[in-house]
Amino acid sequence: MANSTFTLTNACVVTPNGTLCDGVVRVENGRIAFIGKRSELTEAQQLGWAPDAIDAHGGWVLPGFIDLHVHGGFGSDFMDATSDAYNAITKFHMEHGTTAMLATSMTQSREALDRVMVAVDDYMKQGMKYTQLAGVHLEGPFVNPKYKGAQNAEFMIDPQIGWFEDWHARFPGLMKQVSLAPERNNALEAIRWLRAHAVNAAAAHTAATYDEVTRAANAGLNQAVHTFNAMTPIHHRDPGVAGAVLTDDRITAEIIADGIHVHPACIKMLTRSKAPGKLVIITDAMSAAGMPDGQYDLGGLAVTMRHGVCRLTEGDSLAGSTLTMIQAFKNMVNFVGLTVPEVSQLASLNPAQQIGIADVTGSIEVGKQADLVWTDSELNIQRVWVKGSTHM
Ligand SMILES: [Zn+2]
Repeated sequence: MANSTFTLTNACVVTPNGTLCDGVVRVENGRIAFIGKRSELTEAQQLGWAPDAIDAHGGWVLPGFIDLHVHGGFGSDFMDATSDAYNAITKFHMEHGTTAMLATSMTQSREALDRVMVAVDDYMKQGMKYTQLAGVHLEGPFVNPKYKGAQNAEFMIDPQIGWFEDWHARFPGLMKQVSLAPERNNALEAIRWLRAHAVNAAAAHTAATYDEVTRAANAGLNQAVHTFNAMTPIHHRDPGVAGAVLTDDRITAEIIADGIHVHPACIKMLTRSKAPGKLVIITDAMSAAGMPDGQYDLGGLAVTMRHGVCRLTEGDSLAGSTLTMIQAFKNMVNFVGLTVPEVSQLASLNPAQQIGIADVTGSIEVGKQADLVWTDSELNIQRVWVKGSTHM
């Protein structure tokens, strides 16, 4: 039921200025109008807001999650390039707390990527009912076959500034992130072009050395895709991409916090290395997320899911995850030991800042969109609102 004016009471509200328990959040016409303690409400507020009050029963009220790296869910993939597929993906992830996301493409032909750009642009213009698409994240095809993971090596090429110029002209502002291997020819020029056009440049599926990543960061590289996965690992005499990501403050690190792609100890190492504003949790979810075990497709490659873990059917490579943002959030609390407000920053404010939407969403502050997640005290989702509307 859509309802864009209401009052959440009896909540632990996580805000950038601290957590308010016995808190109240007033939403009017889809925006946050008031945040405070119930004991501090005026009589007029108590009386006026009582009719549309929702008792949060002492649970958490968090800013909606923002997923910068998600390929699909509930049987659909962004490469499908249809509004039915995009409704299925955004409904599924909204139910798991995501209120904004980047539609993430796979390594595929220019024509296939073009279809995704057209479809996402259309979908955003039609008005979105569930999780809001904030733009496109192109994961490849400008990556290195040596660390191909579950991406199709057949389509991997050097970065093509001509493609970026064409998409930028046809769909201004739609490209929000391009993930590439910084050791490829033209990578530094591509990174400079991307950053000059307000697009994140991320290191992904890369065999680069530590020095190559440092040179890329000097050119503007500002993000690393699924840290530790599909990149050169740390050796104490050869710190590789992972060593550069851990130690270079210019690079915001993505992490798949499912406990399968990266050992919890390595996630802990990452949280201790990165400044609090330089880490984001992502799902890297594929179409199999929310579905039973079986056979799926990921960018044209066959994937088998067993016990919720996806691997390429040929070979053994981990394919995308079946993670949801709320599960990643719980894992960061339960296996990694962060507090709920600490994880909230990694799930909402940091990704909002990274793609330049923190003026409208990413935290619970007066004037921002009411993109909210209400959970019980064990972080089980009770309800999610996107711009003050719920469809659960
Ligand atoms: Zn991915």
